[in-house]
Amino acid sequence: MIKCLACGKKLENTSNKNIVKCIYCGNSVILKKLSIKLIIKNTIILKKIALIMRDLKDYDTAIDFYQRTLSVDNSDWDAWLGKAIIYLSKANELESLKTEDLISTYCEIVGIEL
Ligand SMILES: [Zn+2]
Repeated sequence: MIKCLACGKKLENTSNKNIVKCIYCGNSVILKKLSIKLIIKNTIILKKIALIMRDLKDYDTAIDFYQRTLSVDNSDWDAWLGKAIIYLSKANELESLKTEDLISTYCEIVGIEL
């Protein structure tokens, strides 16, 4: 049984639609979320998206797109290289973070305000 989210009364889904209007309070309830799954099998497009994500510094998503590329074509050296570059970028960012942390810790110890 499906209940109305607004009044809690039973919803009658007679029309088999995704959206049902509650006959008691008029609230519309979405029964099924429309899911649009984008399945891209074109490795050139996948790698392009990965590059865009890398530029946006969203490294995890970029890696995910390279991973998708590799699941289509495991011998795509371009994707392997791209993944390696991202891991390097990630490592570099971690390094620079560490340095910043070190500096701010040092300044705290010696009492310098940043
Ligand atoms: Zn209702």
